[in-house]
Amino acid sequence: MSDLSKLCIHSITTKPWGLREAATKYATAGVTGISVWQDAAASFGDGHRAAGEMFRSEGIDVVSYVRGGFYTALEGAGRMKAIDENKRIIDEAAALGAPLVVLVCGATPGQSLFESRKQITEGIAATIQHASDAGVKLGIEPLHPMYADSRSAVNTMSQANAICDEVGHSHLGITADVFHIWWDDRLEKEIKIAGEKNRLFSFHICDWKNLPEDMLNDRGLMGEGVIDVSGIRRWVNETGFSGYEEVEIFSNKYWAMDQDDYLDQIIDAYKSLS
Ligand code: ZN
Repeated sequence: MSDLSKLCIHSITTKPWGLREAATKYATAGVTGISVWQDAAASFGDGHRAAGEMFRSEGIDVVSYVRGGFYTALEGAGRMKAIDENKRIIDEAAALGAPLVVLVCGATPGQSLFESRKQITEGIAATIQHASDAGVKLGIEPLHPMYADSRSAVNTMSQANAICDEVGHSHLGITADVFHIWWDDRLEKEIKIAGEKNRLFSFHICDWKNLPEDMLNDRGLMGEGVIDVSGIRRWVNETGFSGYEEVEIFSNKYWAMDQDDYLDQIIDAYKSLS
């Protein structure tokens, strides 16, 4: 059984709710962490600083800002633009009071994944000082290889660890999401390495349904699918990780539900983790 003290929910998980409604509903349910998506922050209307203050007044921690990255492009001008865009996103995170920006690193059709990873490393290296100066960390989130076409050339914890080694900055680390990395036979080892190097910055949970109907928007609640979420969570905790456990679910099915009922289901699924 898990108590709720480490439960965080991503704003996109309960997408039909705006940030104000999410804050009230989460606080009432005893959820004290939120990771804020850019689109939700933009819809809030009063700016990032005010959104951050609103959460703090509800007793809710802003755990991360989602998401930066997309460093790759065929042309140098596109890559420069991405660096500027990431600096802007880091500034938004700082205004929000979010200690971390999650990076979906990017991949560009027409160039190899090796080239994309080189560009990602260079792009991160060009933004990490800006992040550090703003007091914001960057978390590389490896994405499942089914997204290697156009979303991310970083598909394993091993690749993420390698980029962290190359950039070598205390503000650069990894966001581990069970949905993306559960299949990897090196997972336990790479989580351990990330922990030893103090770079396991955040942990996302959900489940991979057996035969999902949609490769993006049919994620399951923990326990609904094939991922050993409790087992991976144990490896994460064994590193000394003490951060929030973030429920991040994109689901046409759940977004169509009554969101109060859905929040109850999220909490039940979270409590059922061993
Ligand atoms: Zn994630």
